Amino acid sequence: MYVGRFAPSPTGPLHFGSLIAALGSWLDARSARGAWLLRIEDLDWPREQPGAAAEILSVLEACGLNWDGEIVLQSRRNDLYRAALERLREGGATYACACTRREIADSAPAIDGARVYPGTCRAGLAEGRAQRAVRVRTTDEPVIFEDRLFGRHVQSVGHEVGDFVLWRADGLFAYQLAVVVDDAAQGVTDVVRGADLIDSTARQIHLQRLLGLPTPRYLHLPVAVNASGEKLSKQTRAKPVDPACAGPELVRAFVFLGHPPPAEIAHAPPRDLLDWGARNWDPARIPKLRAASD
Ligand code: GLU
Repeated sequence: MYVGRFAPSPTGPLHFGSLIAALGSWLDARSARGAWLLRIEDLDWPREQPGAAAEILSVLEACGLNWDGEIVLQSRRNDLYRAALERLREGGATYACACTRREIADSAPAIDGARVYPGTCRAGLAEGRAQRAVRVRTTDEPVIFEDRLFGRHVQSVGHEVGDFVLWRADGLFAYQLAVVVDDAAQGVTDVVRGADLIDSTARQIHLQRLLGLPTPRYLHLPVAVNASGEKLSKQTRAKPVDPACAGPELVRAFVFLGHPPPAEIAHAPPRDLLDWGARNWDPARIPKLRAASD
């Protein structure tokens, strides 16, 4: 049984970029007669915008993107993340880290724009230093997975990212840990999301292996960028999707994903567009680009 999911962070209203991830994951699930779950990734509550989660839900509803079961809120799941971290610690996979961002600023740039952790605290905290964060040990051995759009992806997590943070200096669990715990707990078989996350996937597979969890299939979708080539986001002031224009916004997202609806349904209500989409979804038609402007 196929289980897919959409996992927005409520840092702002849903913009066109997130609509693509929502639509792509919905179509992939529904065309496989699978379940589509909704998880609000409100773990990083200082970045949360009040009311954003409710706005996201109302846009999904207006677009006819119906989900199955209860909505999962990451903010209620700290016990699960803590238990996973504890298991990793017991297995010797993690260590306490005292380094500040400044102390690792001279290290090589990592694939995610941060720094490759130089391993300073790997063998234990230096005398007089206190724990700030918890990191997981990585190795140079490449993690290989087959993305359903982009094909074979190879990343040496140790070399390209380094030992990464699972429990942050601000006391929050890191996205990488939470997403792995939640995808497994929710029985997710297929992750469909933006290609901005493709470089996180090897880290997530590394954690799945350490925790003895299954690895889902991955399909990364092109990310929408604005005319300056910046990813649509709250920071780049992307326009929120207007629930009153759900049909035209969906058509735009279908076109972006390489599935232009036929003229006779281009003005049809969302439900008809989605029915057509679920019948005609073919990931081979998605443009093989990490980023595209619409
Ligand atoms: N919450 C993440 C975001 O909104 C997506 C996480 C995921 O799909 O794995 O960018």
